[in-house]
Amino acid sequence: MSSERRRFQSSRRRFAPRRKVCEFCMDEVKYVDYKDVNKLQRYVSDRGKIRPRRQTGLCAKHQRRLAVAIKRARYIALLPFVAELRGR
Ligand SMILES: [Zn+2]
Repeated sequence: MSSERRRFQSSRRRFAPRRKVCEFCMDEVKYVDYKDVNKLQRYVSDRGKIRPRRQTGLCAKHQRRLAVAIKRARYIALLPFVAELRGR
C-alpha cells in the first residue's frame, strides 16, 4: 500500500520485492518438514520445479534443506516431479 511498494511491483521483478530474511530462519526452522505440502508448494513453480533462491529469498542453508524436503515429498508422491500443463 505504500508508494514505495508500488514502485517495486511496477518494475520487472515479480518475485520477492524486497530482499528479506529467509522465512525459515525467521521461524527458526531446523528441519524442513517434507510432509508439509502446503508450505513446500509455495517454493515450487507451477510446473513443479523448485524455485531458485533469488525467488524464494531463502538462505543457502534453508534452500538446501528445502530442496531435500521437496525431493522427499516427490518421492512419496506428495508433490509432482513435473506438473501437468493443460493445453499441451
Ligand atoms: Zn534460513
